[in-house]
Amino acid sequence: MEINESKNKFMPRLQIQSLSCGYKNERGYTEILKDINFYINKGEIVGLIGEIGSGKTTLLRAITGEILRSGGDIFYEGKSIFSKENYLNFRKKRIYVRQDAMDILKPRYSVEFQIKKLFKGGKYDRSNVERIFNNLGLSMDIMNMLPVQLSDGTRHRVLIAMALLIKPEILLLDEPTTGLDTYAIRGLLELLKEMAVSTSIIMINSDIIPVFQICDRIYVMKSGVIIEDGIWSDILHKPHHPYVKEIITSVPSISNRNKEYVDIDNKIEGGCVFLKKCRHMKEICKSDVPYIMDRDHGYRCLRYPEWYND
Ligand code: SF4
Repeated sequence: MEINESKNKFMPRLQIQSLSCGYKNERGYTEILKDINFYINKGEIVGLIGEIGSGKTTLLRAITGEILRSGGDIFYEGKSIFSKENYLNFRKKRIYVRQDAMDILKPRYSVEFQIKKLFKGGKYDRSNVERIFNNLGLSMDIMNMLPVQLSDGTRHRVLIAMALLIKPEILLLDEPTTGLDTYAIRGLLELLKEMAVSTSIIMINSDIIPVFQICDRIYVMKSGVIIEDGIWSDILHKPHHPYVKEIITSVPSISNRNKEYVDIDNKIEGGCVFLKKCRHMKEICKSDVPYIMDRDHGYRCLRYPEWYND
């Protein structure tokens, strides 16, 4: 399947349309993501936020094609990645930096050998490696070391450095700031901004402060669905979903140090995904909640803007 370019003048680099997908297990098929719509343009940085188990990592895996699809499609430059021919081309254009770096780095080869392998002739710009390592708080002394001699956090940073050296068209980052000190987080964000001239970056981060510092747009997920998306400043200053407001106001700061945080466990059986915990809930919220678009700000709440005044 292809997106008709003449009908769609504005074609994102990557676009997900009405995607539902999940995994097979001993009990059969379990659906994780429902009706996902998402896009990213060339040179954009997009953040995915939400609690653990909301489907963020599954969405990154979906983009790599590692899931079972029950509906919808993913398009790279207008072509479905689920056709074999397009998928092989798409694979070369994207890099997924997961947290379990040890599975990706080859344990019996030095860091330097693995960096050289990125560049077919084996020649690489050592000063650029040094600059990237320095920004990420890595010492050049690890170049001669094997992955097994490095900590999990260092291996994760080596993988991020390797992705930054390659400059793929699409970079998927899962928790890139985990284990980094504030100096290295600043260094990483500088590198990502520099890279985002040509690379499209999708980033998951539990610590939402770096997401708001660097991302152009943000998607918020809960219970396998997207509940809000928009430009970072709109999400920050005018969230349309009560749960998104909870996330933003739960970021530790002096102004909310005595605040009681809302328990985010919320199994759903129908209606709004935030039904059981939402203090603005009314009978209408037990109905299906469509995704509402207000220009470039999308949300899944039946009581916006009324809930603001409750
Ligand atoms: S639809 Fe209702 S329960 Fe859901 S977030 Fe909006 S107000 Fe709360």
